[in-house]
Amino acid sequence: MTSSSSVPGGVPVLPDYEPVPAAALGPALNEHGYHVGRVERNLFWVTDGTYQSAFLATSDGVVLFDAPPTIGHNLRRAVDEVAAAEGTTNTVTHLVYSHHHADHAGAANLFGDEVVRIGHAETRRLLLRDDDPTRPAPEVTFQDRYTLEVGGERVELAWHGPNHSPDNIFIHFPDHDALMVIDIVNAGWVPIYNLNLSEDVPGYIGAGERAESYAWKYLISGHLGRLATREDVAVHRRYLDDIVESCYAALASVDPTPYFGKYRENAWAGVRGYLGEVTERAAAPVIEKYTGVLAAADIEAFTSSTTFMILQSLRLDRGIGSQVHL
Ligand SMILES: [Zn+2]
Repeated sequence: MTSSSSVPGGVPVLPDYEPVPAAALGPALNEHGYHVGRVERNLFWVTDGTYQSAFLATSDGVVLFDAPPTIGHNLRRAVDEVAAAEGTTNTVTHLVYSHHHADHAGAANLFGDEVVRIGHAETRRLLLRDDDPTRPAPEVTFQDRYTLEVGGERVELAWHGPNHSPDNIFIHFPDHDALMVIDIVNAGWVPIYNLNLSEDVPGYIGAGERAESYAWKYLISGHLGRLATREDVAVHRRYLDDIVESCYAALASVDPTPYFGKYRENAWAGVRGYLGEVTERAAAPVIEKYTGVLAAADIEAFTSSTTFMILQSLRLDRGIGSQVHL
């Protein structure tokens, strides 16, 4: 199915999709609409089924990693629940931003002005630009690496270049066997539109391999209802590799001549026809292969728009298909 349409009277006709594979779903939510789970020792993760956050419950204070507004006040409830059960303080002393996007940071202001906010230098620049009172800019910033030590625990923050966003960082918990990288891998699901709304295509594609280069067993990936495994990253990388390979094959098999011949001086109509055909031909086998494997693979717009972005990156970043005029 493609997109919804509406009939007179405004009632939308909504397409049906394949069932979500059971392996793509996580634990049941509680009566407040969240689940908090132990990753390892005193590192915990929180989900509302769509978004994820994490926190370290140390003897000196709680370190929060992201504050998605959809989880919102449930973050406080999750911290209180764990602090009561573990006998630790529930005071949030630090907040780490994975990146500046409002959907992962828009509840940052709920934790008061005393919190030490930490993020990449570019996160600070972008948050000052965006001027959103729900996302105060971090006062503690770094460029490439930062080691955060609180209550005897160590967290390694690193920036490896732009990927999903210019400021998206890798958050490694070496003593908890865990890594947190947001908006790259959707465990058990395909990326949404345009490689998960990513700005740097080579950076996004390379982020999976970068994540694999770290030592971890548990990946907090920022979305949906469960933690990710190394196998999830491997499947994610195969999906992207398959799209890249399919783009090469489609570029080699679609002849642009008829499109530009038909539209002549309307060059953009030729571009639309040609790139549309290449994209459709490249995406189709990937959609078929991953339907039933990754949830939402049959929402064609996701894989098609991701394929379009990769196709353009192959052309513009890699120079594939460029022809020098004779
Ligand atoms: Zn984002």
